[in-house]
Amino acid sequence: MKCISCGAEYDNMEIIYTCKECDSLLEVLCHAEVSRDIFACRKSTMWKYKEFMPVDHSHIVSLEEGGTPFCHCPQLGDELGIDLYVKVEGSNPTGSFKDRGMSVGITKALELGVSTVGCASTGNTSASLAAYAARAGLRCIVLLPAGKVALGKLAQAMFHGAEVVSVRGNFDEALETITALALKGELYLLNSVNPFRLEGQKSIGFEIVDDLGWKSPDRIVLPVGNAGNISAIWKGIREFHEAGFISDLPRMTGIQAEGAAPIARAVAKGRDDIVPVENPETIATAIRIGAPVSAKKALRAIYESDGMAETVADEEILSAQKLLARTEGIGVEPASAASIAGLIKIVDAGKIDKGEQIVCVVTGHLLKDPNTAINACTKPVEVDADVGALSRIINPA
Ligand SMILES: *Cc1c(COP(=O)(O)O)cnc(C)c1O
Ligand SMILES: [Zn+2]
Repeated sequence: MKCISCGAEYDNMEIIYTCKECDSLLEVLCHAEVSRDIFACRKSTMWKYKEFMPVDHSHIVSLEEGGTPFCHCPQLGDELGIDLYVKVEGSNPTGSFKDRGMSVGITKALELGVSTVGCASTGNTSASLAAYAARAGLRCIVLLPAGKVALGKLAQAMFHGAEVVSVRGNFDEALETITALALKGELYLLNSVNPFRLEGQKSIGFEIVDDLGWKSPDRIVLPVGNAGNISAIWKGIREFHEAGFISDLPRMTGIQAEGAAPIARAVAKGRDDIVPVENPETIATAIRIGAPVSAKKALRAIYESDGMAETVADEEILSAQKLLARTEGIGVEPASAASIAGLIKIVDAGKIDKGEQIVCVVTGHLLKDPNTAINACTKPVEVDADVGALSRIINPA
């Protein structure tokens, strides 16, 4: 592992989350000498690219995550004047991309010989960690901000047997608390500050360029919360570029909710650090984060790739969520729809070239947050079991 700021290096078997010299973020160094042809005949999971997964391959903990749908979206794409693909991460085993990170993270936990894992979560991290910890036979502690977790995610974390603790406070405070516990050695922390999480999530980047026939799209658009995922995808794309598998690179475009947008605000000012948002607020609970841990890596990804960042209002998120569901049949949770909302906003502002090939990563499944979905619709009409009555409702005079 190497510090992204001072370059200090650490052994991969050391349990450490930030640099001991300067407290900055770590990244796992990964380099593989292989030909891309070896991937062709393998099963379509993220472990298809196992040479790029720097963990012990003898006891991989997997639920066959990755290999998610890569849907061409001509209806919505034509409306926007672009060539649009949507990477549907809700199709992972627990319904979000977090599974990719947890597969590597829990495999690493076994390699390290720990018995307890934990995380703070806005929901999906806890749902995923609970499932993978169960599969590995590890004790799992999760901290959730009280009253701010979507119903589906809470159900998953509890049902898979995690010890769920509700914190009076927001996500940032929950993360600070459990990080302190992890530093005392009481559990192995699997938030995205753990660089092995990002090693799994970089496979989203691998799959995008593989799905496009070993080509990079012009742009990758995704929601940004704690900012691990945008950093991970960029790392993956760079690794495939360095390996010679692709010759071009995409522009990384991060979308944040207006009430929780420290990274977009930093980009707007051209800064390479953030000012944390004290009380982050948005209906997109998965990105309701004021002090993104991986901000430094995310800003680097955006600047290095000549990308951009944008903010969207909750109403824009909800209408994009409905638009994607009704024009393309893809159901996603609010945070995921932020990528679509942001894309629409930058297209409308003329910040994107006509005809660009764009991949939107939609991060989690619609059913994660059933309450928001139901509240966005009108109630079903109730009718007697009678043909005439039904007919009058379907074809009103
Ligand atoms: C975790 C999550 C995000 C945010 O990802 P970061 O890596 O924290 O930026 C976005 N959408 C969904 C559905 C998530 O679960
Ligand atoms: Zn350092």
